[in-house]
Order: sequence, then structure tokens, then C-alpha cells
Amino acid sequence: MADAYGSRVLRKDMKGPDVVELQVRLAGFRGTIPDGDFGSGTELQVQKFQQDVMGMASPTRVVDRATFEAIDAFAQKYPIDFKSLRCPCGHCSGFGNGRFRDTYVPGGEGQEQFNHYEYPGIHRLLLWAVRAVYHYLPEHRFSFSSGYRCSVDNQQHGRTTTNHRGKAVDLDIALKPGESKRDDADKCNAVRGRIVELSNAQVGWAARNRKSLEPPDIAPTWVHYDVRQYERAYLADDFFCRDLAGLDRLTPITC
Ligand SMILES: [Zn+2]
Repeated sequence: MADAYGSRVLRKDMKGPDVVELQVRLAGFRGTIPDGDFGSGTELQVQKFQQDVMGMASPTRVVDRATFEAIDAFAQKYPIDFKSLRCPCGHCSGFGNGRFRDTYVPGGEGQEQFNHYEYPGIHRLLLWAVRAVYHYLPEHRFSFSSGYRCSVDNQQHGRTTTNHRGKAVDLDIALKPGESKRDDADKCNAVRGRIVELSNAQVGWAARNRKSLEPPDIAPTWVHYDVRQYERAYLADDFFCRDLAGLDRLTPITC
């Protein structure tokens, strides 16, 4: 297939579906929009990955075979626990039933935060960005406290927000013996700050097409990470996955 991921060396000014895939996989390294256009933002992603994961003193910012292989190794080092991401309702597929496409809360038409659609899994860009959190912050032990919540789960809990229909995960940070809720809040604040710095996320939802972290007044003792500010093109069904194979999409590196 032309421009299959891993079939050609990628560098600045190239375009294609393989660039989209690269942008998704390096979402936690600064991060940009997955538009398939290898611009300066993507170049910075590659640079940070080469420096911070591959340990290159002089990053080339060119995605060659060694870099593709390092990205695969990075994925294998940080598996994602899909069991803990599944919707707990007991009625849906684990990731909703694909209901409510193009349905919004009345008055919120077209606004992603009011979108009822049960996306088909969790957004891949978000989970690859979580891998970068694991990489950059090895001093913390993370687990998912919330992944997918379908419309049935919302009914069961009297909840109206729809951000957890594939566009958000909540990360819990394990406390060490003797640590208090206050310590937990301090840790979550520190982690949010690092994610802003390293992954180009924002606290809150002011900017479009940027990863978001819920502010501490809403998420005091957990880290809520989401992609709800991305525009529709970047929330297409193909960006969502339901298992590790769908997240990793390992393909032969032939370049
Ligand atoms: Zn469900």
C-alpha cells in the first residue's frame, strides 16, 4: 500500500496517512494535530521523542527505520490496560453501542462537549499521549479510574456529561503509605503541570485542537485527560480503538 506507515522514511514537508499515524503515536511528545502534514510541529514531536526516548544527543528529526523501531518498542514498554478502560454498565460492548451519532444536548448543537455520540472505543491519540506520561513520570504508579462511560452507564449514575464516550480517561496516582488527600492533590497538580510542559496540553478547554486537562477544582485527586477540543475531522471513527492491537496497529517496518 502506498504510504503505509513504516514503508518510507518521513521528514519535514512530507504528507500522507503515515504522517497521521506518526502524529498520533507521538501525541505525548509536545504534540500537534493529526492532519498528515509533517510541519514544524511534527518535527518537534520527532525531536523530543529522539531526545527523550531514544537518548539521541543530536536528534535528526527524520523518522528513519531506527526511529520507527523505537516507537514500536516504546509501545511495547508501555502497554495500556484496556480491561480497566471498558464501560462498567454491563449492557454495552464495553465501548458503547455506537448510538447517538450527530445528537447533541438541546442548545449545544455542534459543540463536542454536548455530543451524545458513543464513539467506537477510546481515541488512540489520547492513549498514546498517556504512554508518554508513563515514560516521563516513572516515579508515579498510574491506573485508570475511569475510561468509557456509555449512555446506559450515565443513566445508572444520573450523569449527563458525555466526555467519557471515548474522548477522555481519568488517571489515578497511587498514594504511598502515610500520604494524605492533600498530598494526592499536590501530586495531581504537579503531574498536570508536567503534561502541559511536555505534551503541549492545556488546563481547561480554551484552545481548539489541543489536549485538555480538567482543572483541579473539578478533578482534585485525579488527572482527567481528554481530546474533546479537537475538531470533527480529528474525531473520526478511525481514530478510536477498543483493544491493544487496535491501539498499536503494528505494521512491518520496511523503509
Ligand atoms: Zn456501557
